[in-house]
Amino acid sequence: MFQEVSTRADFPGMELEVRRFWKEQDVFNRSVRQRQGRPAFVFYEGPPTANGLPGIHHVLARAMKDLFPRYKTMRGFYSERKGGWDTHGLPVEIEVEKQLKLNGKQDIERYGVEAFNKLCRESVFKYINEWAEMTEQMGFWVDLEHAYRTYDTSYMESVWWILKQLWDKGLLYEGFKVVPYCPHDMTPLSSHELGLPGGYKDDVEDPSVYVKFALEDEPNTFFLAWTTTPWTLPGNVALAVGLDIPYVRVRQGDEHYILAKARLSILQGDYEVEADVDAKDLLGKRYKPLYEYLVPDKPAFFVVDANFVSTEDGTGIVHTAAAYGVDDLELSLQKGIPVRHVVDLQGRFRPEVEPFAGLFVKKADPKIIDDLTKRGLMYRAETIRHTYPFCWRCGWPLLYYAVTSWFIKTTAVKGQLIRNNNAIDWVPPYIKSGRMGNWLESLVDWSLSRWRYWGTPLPVWKCEKCDDRRCIGSVAELGLTLEADLHRPYIDRVTLPCEKCGGVMRRVPDLIDVWFDSGAMPVAQYHYPFENEDVFKAHFPADFIAEGLDQTRGWFFSLLAEATMLFDQSSYKNVICTNLVLDKQGRKMSKSLKNTVDPIEIMSKFGADATRWYFYASVAVGNEYRFDPSAVQDVVRRFLLILWNTYYFFTNYARLDGFQPGGEPVPVGQRALLDRWLLAELAAVINDVEGALDAYDPNSSARRLEAFVLDLSTWYVRRSRRRFWKSESDADKRSAYQTLYQVMVALSQMLAPFMPFISETIFQNLAARKNGQPDSVHLTDWPVAAPEWSDEELRRQMSAVRRLVATGLAARNAAGIKVRQPLRAVTIADRPLQADLEAILLEELNIKAARYQGQGGDLTLDTEISEELKLEGLARDLVRKIQELRKQSGFAVEDRIRLFYQGDGILAEALERWRDYIATETLAVAVARGGAPDGASTETLKIEGHDLTVSVVRVAAR
Ligand SMILES: [Zn+2]
Ligand SMILES: [Zn+2]
Repeated sequence: MFQEVSTRADFPGMELEVRRFWKEQDVFNRSVRQRQGRPAFVFYEGPPTANGLPGIHHVLARAMKDLFPRYKTMRGFYSERKGGWDTHGLPVEIEVEKQLKLNGKQDIERYGVEAFNKLCRESVFKYINEWAEMTEQMGFWVDLEHAYRTYDTSYMESVWWILKQLWDKGLLYEGFKVVPYCPHDMTPLSSHELGLPGGYKDDVEDPSVYVKFALEDEPNTFFLAWTTTPWTLPGNVALAVGLDIPYVRVRQGDEHYILAKARLSILQGDYEVEADVDAKDLLGKRYKPLYEYLVPDKPAFFVVDANFVSTEDGTGIVHTAAAYGVDDLELSLQKGIPVRHVVDLQGRFRPEVEPFAGLFVKKADPKIIDDLTKRGLMYRAETIRHTYPFCWRCGWPLLYYAVTSWFIKTTAVKGQLIRNNNAIDWVPPYIKSGRMGNWLESLVDWSLSRWRYWGTPLPVWKCEKCDDRRCIGSVAELGLTLEADLHRPYIDRVTLPCEKCGGVMRRVPDLIDVWFDSGAMPVAQYHYPFENEDVFKAHFPADFIAEGLDQTRGWFFSLLAEATMLFDQSSYKNVICTNLVLDKQGRKMSKSLKNTVDPIEIMSKFGADATRWYFYASVAVGNEYRFDPSAVQDVVRRFLLILWNTYYFFTNYARLDGFQPGGEPVPVGQRALLDRWLLAELAAVINDVEGALDAYDPNSSARRLEAFVLDLSTWYVRRSRRRFWKSESDADKRSAYQTLYQVMVALSQMLAPFMPFISETIFQNLAARKNGQPDSVHLTDWPVAAPEWSDEELRRQMSAVRRLVATGLAARNAAGIKVRQPLRAVTIADRPLQADLEAILLEELNIKAARYQGQGGDLTLDTEISEELKLEGLARDLVRKIQELRKQSGFAVEDRIRLFYQGDGILAEALERWRDYIATETLAVAVARGGAPDGASTETLKIEGHDLTVSVVRVAAR
């Protein structure tokens, strides 16, 4: 017998019970284990960092991560879900810096790297409890007991092994390059970090200046060049022109300017074009340096040609500061122009640059503009708003800055990267050639070095004497074991003898980019190749991963790049990229705007199922979410409660009737039309949801299920209610129960990957441990439609009837005739419906007869209302009013009553005429004219301006 179901559903409370059940019965592990030996469905967990509180967007990513392994498990796949934690890097260091109130690297060195790193290690799991709670609360099944951690020696050893492979392939090198550089954290970053949240900011105000460079041999003549970083002007070493760009010399007052003909519009005031100038004639022309500090010893300050010069903005003449631009450095090296820094590693002008010495470059900008203005070298100075990169961790503006550091030669495998990317199924698909494809097309070498403390040390040792280098690929090569701590400062104390000269080799001070750690997880989570070769091979590549769109240049890239360089294939086949979760006004969530959402609070209020469903059903993957708690509440109202009411309806009537599943089934062919229709719909929905999930489309599958639940409630159950109410037990009733039972169980199974809790609750009560079913919905197989359920013709016809019903109701509405008023006839311009479908149509529309005439699907109502029809309509009104009175009097749905009425006129006439019908509908065992006994509920009913006083008295329940 089923447990009684309450009308008032407490979803969060119910979810707690389900969590307890899963834990006690070890359901997650059992669900995985029972598929051992079956084909694998490999999932990789993109490791989060637990040193910050989880946000609502984490629920989004995890909702996706949970859905597919659950689904595939039900489809019979073996899907382990090893958890993981990202533990290294600037995010961790910055939290500890804040906590210790340290400011910058000098402070950390003073505090001591050993103690600092100890705190980093501890702080990594500062919010582990909140993460564990969020994970469990939302029902994300992941194995955190055996989670990999990027700071473990075994993990780091595998990372070293990968780096050694790249070293052996010549893909790891030291180079002098311009990289995005954080002057606060004093470390290079990589260009992929600029794409992370907090990276590029739009609408940043910066100077926009047109500067005059005086020609050496032509008095009062100047090259005009444009820049938005005046601080790079003291570092100017050359000017670049484009050979195919036409230039002109113009006169303004006493001065002459040289610029591109296409850029004359930047000039202010009248001017006279004096001559066309060929770019070739400009080459080698010398100009006076703006600043004479740190003047290089080799030739500089002349015009060179470059292919990156354009006339899209600026003047067509490009100011070149060798050390502060990617193009600038490349050009300078190519033309033999000396490269020197005027700015130190903290982004401050060096002492030699006297007027600005010690000033942070961005603070020096206005002073440089002032200075050049005073000296008559500023043609035009204003401000612009543009996009500029910032440090994604500390928020400081980044500088493009030339450093000697370590790189991975990703450009050498660009072709393979593009090819392997093309083999990935991206959801949404436009990421493949869009965000990811574009990124790969404009690929630069991976800037790997981080000049920091808490991270995987770059395993390269250099000889003090002969500068020979050696890359280490295992702890054994250092004479260490897995017990060793490979972090700084310990690793820095490990020296090696130089095989070439016998000198001492010391490790380079660099750490590696934390994104390299996470991209190594397919290999490093199993400590491959040092152990677990079989396990690794069985789990490579992943069938499925999911993360936010911002990971295109983060984890999605590092996974792809490392697997391509190691194995020449991608490490994942399918990837879901979720977009941002914005607030309801479409603003990004941030602490400063106070619009962040606590996921634990939302789930405690509305339930994890509703929260998950919101993320599946509200938009297609790839679109932004406009998150509003009331939208989750809407899910409860629009969907969960409808589902619950259907479940409630079924269960409580089944209890009343003592329905037992597993009885002799009524053959599908002998079931009522509605039952056959519902089974046909069920077969279709199983097929559709399966198809959508196989295509990694959560939105279509969720919406399909939503539509099905709505059909089930508003069409099947509403139209079938009487079949469950009737007191005699016959084949029709049995058919109804069996059909709805089958549907409820299959529905709980289909909902299980999406809403693991309510599906479990329904399954537990209806099917668990009955007729060979397991004790949890998550241990069942995905439902399979019986071949005899399918009936496309019936689905088509029913859908046509429902369309006619909608048209008919609209026509009634237009004619101002309520549905309770019966009408004589409807004329349908189509082929006749089969009898049982016609009966449904007529009942829905409350019409006596249908006529068929012509074609085109139109429908015309006969709106003439006879006296007879009028009385019938009023009788229906009376039924509704009496039902309300029953409810107000606190009677249960099944309570029998006695009905009394006083008065005469048309309402009394209608009651007399339709006495039996009204008695049946209102469960009245007797209907009598006259006063009611004591204790009766009495009310004067008003219908269309007529009155009738009615009383009801409860008799015994059945
Ligand atoms: Zn920074
Ligand atoms: Zn040596």
